[in-house]
Amino acid sequence: MKYVGAHVSAGGGVENAVKNAVEIGADGFALFTKNQRQWVAKPLSEKSINKFKELIDEHGFSAEGILPHDSYLINLGHPEEEKREKSYNAFVDEIRRVEQLGLKYLNFHPGSHLKKITEEECLDLISENINRAIKDTEYAVLVLETTAGQGSNLGYKFEHLAYIIDKVEDKSRIGVCIDTAHIFAAGYDIRTKEAYDKTMKEFDEIIGFKYLKGMHINDSKAKFASRVDRHHSLGKGEIGIDAFKFIMQDERIDNIPLVLETIEPEIWAEEIKLLKSFADV
Ligand SMILES: [Zn+2]
Ligand SMILES: [Zn+2]
Repeated sequence: MKYVGAHVSAGGGVENAVKNAVEIGADGFALFTKNQRQWVAKPLSEKSINKFKELIDEHGFSAEGILPHDSYLINLGHPEEEKREKSYNAFVDEIRRVEQLGLKYLNFHPGSHLKKITEEECLDLISENINRAIKDTEYAVLVLETTAGQGSNLGYKFEHLAYIIDKVEDKSRIGVCIDTAHIFAAGYDIRTKEAYDKTMKEFDEIIGFKYLKGMHINDSKAKFASRVDRHHSLGKGEIGIDAFKFIMQDERIDNIPLVLETIEPEIWAEEIKLLKSFADV
């Protein structure tokens, strides 16, 4: 089975994310466990944690189907030590929140070199911080997201993620999330079956499906290989609807969260239904 859902709002408390996921008929979901544009957040309250867990059980969600996303401010590969440490501390806080909620994954973007250090130096800093974070926390699996490569963001080549994974000491705690809009903008085509198969073969050879812990299911406003990160609703962008059929019919993508980050939340329920209908054929 596939856990199909969307990145829902956790406004008013993490427990509301569960309610919002139920409302759109999702089997899985993504959420921010704190305001994604602020450095510091209040700790999760006992009440909020308990309510979240209660609702998860009540509605039959599983930790395997939930993919929390960390703050956009965090850059584990920041060239300046002080800012890198600030990021590191925020990252560890994010992991602890996920663990408090009894969740399994934390999805994050690798980092940016800000044109001040080389790509390799930046990837080394990211790897170091991941190893540290794994030692400083209990069990959560840290899920690197593929990026569009906008600005100086790393993660736009499968090789970047493979390089980091290779340096991570505890491989049981590292994973990958493919964002369809991001890989497409980064130059990995998925528009035809032939192109999809080629891209996924490359992914398997360079990273490996065993590391795939989630996917972000987005069409793209930005053109192929444009290195621009602009999501669109399914079938309305440059990727087109076929790619999402290939994904839904791909058994290598079973048992992980497939999360919409498309731009019209009012049609998420329809998009989820559509995706599920692709799996039935
Ligand atoms: Zn992301
Ligand atoms: Zn994404």
